[in-house]
Amino acid sequence: MGCAVTRVQRITVLGATGSIGLSTLDVIARHPDRYQVFALSGFSRIDELLALCVRHRPAYAVVPSSDAAVRLREGLAAAGCATEVLEGEGGLCQVAAAGEVDTVMAAIVGAAGLRPTLAAVEAGKKVLLANKEALVMSGALFMDAVRRSGSVLLPIDSEHNAIFQCMPGDYARGLGAVGVRRILLTASGGPFRETPAEALLDVTPEQACAHPNWSMGRKISVDSASMLNKGLELIEACWLFDAKPAQIEVVVHPQSVIHSLVDYVDGSVLAQLGNPDMRTPISNALAWPERIDSGVAPLDLFAIARLDFQAPDEQRFPCLRLARQAAEAGHSAPAVLNAANEVAVDAFLQGRIRFPEIAGMIEQVLDQEPVVPLATLDAVFAADQRARELSREWLRRHGR
Ligand code: NAD
Ligand code: MG
Repeated sequence: MGCAVTRVQRITVLGATGSIGLSTLDVIARHPDRYQVFALSGFSRIDELLALCVRHRPAYAVVPSSDAAVRLREGLAAAGCATEVLEGEGGLCQVAAAGEVDTVMAAIVGAAGLRPTLAAVEAGKKVLLANKEALVMSGALFMDAVRRSGSVLLPIDSEHNAIFQCMPGDYARGLGAVGVRRILLTASGGPFRETPAEALLDVTPEQACAHPNWSMGRKISVDSASMLNKGLELIEACWLFDAKPAQIEVVVHPQSVIHSLVDYVDGSVLAQLGNPDMRTPISNALAWPERIDSGVAPLDLFAIARLDFQAPDEQRFPCLRLARQAAEAGHSAPAVLNAANEVAVDAFLQGRIRFPEIAGMIEQVLDQEPVVPLATLDAVFAADQRARELSREWLRRHGR
């Protein structure tokens, strides 16, 4: 009847207190005519979650425990905020799949995000995927669920969002069918890009978390420093774009201005550029197929002046090689790689292992754990648990 009015989109932000969650809320707050927050989740920063509830007035907030729920309810009551508090994984899955929700930002870090993210997919939501670990662990099952439910899956990882923007609309027909020769996945190289191998033995968690271009959570910061993040992204790209590992080349590009490229058979190479600010891919996915203001400053090419490219050094960054091997082995190997890495990164952040031992530990766990098919979610979590147990055994064996 007359002019088409787009209904306000209701959004659940899983992992709202994190780096991606906060950037998402920043974009949402710029467009109150388009977006409304339905639910927020937090894990350890309950006071921050309370402040976000007071600011965005969601219908629901989700916390991990009943202690946290009591604290949050008290704060909400004092602030006169009617947000209802839910607990645990059940609460996360509930707000991910609720009938009122249009879009779910999946921004929990690590394996903890898998069930809630899948709940959103199975409920046919528009899913904005930051939680790459979920897809890496359960790739085939995850993509099957996307196809079955008709969920619209949009990548938030800046590289995958860039690739998505450089692909033709019908890329789901297959890379060969749309004339794509290969995908060039860019990597900043992280804070240790030029650090000699011997010096990597003594780097600290603080140095590893001081990324030169991006401000991110601690786990992904360590992953960027070890380049295991690029390995997870390689696996993520294989699933999102139905690519073989051999069709994806990692290119170190220290300025993080080109976020990735697509190479076509006619010699055309399309790239997406922008300032390194996650609000660009978040806005792109939120508004897709439209475009909205993200608050990101325009790119100043004269200030950047030059763009550099290097081949990755798999001697100093063996995690990249391990991830490529896991991608090629398929089945349970990526879930095992991911779980071993989560335990290793945790141990590194606690000062229990040295930086190069992250790769050493992952390699041993991958060697010990046979590659098995993963036909169910239970099988995914069983592989994840076995890998965690082997990783803890590694720590015990090495007296950590
Ligand atoms: P972060 O550590 O800043 O935030 C993580 C969020 O997850 C927090 O809200 C925290 O409360 C929640 N969380 C942590 N453990 C949880 C658990 N066990 N159960 C439930 N919730 C839990 O991390 P981030 O940098 O925002 O990254 C989030 C995800 O996005 C990761 O998968 C990361 O790889 C991906 N990602 C991040 C960036 C970035 O620039 N930060 C870029 C690309 C992809
Ligand atoms: Mg990325």
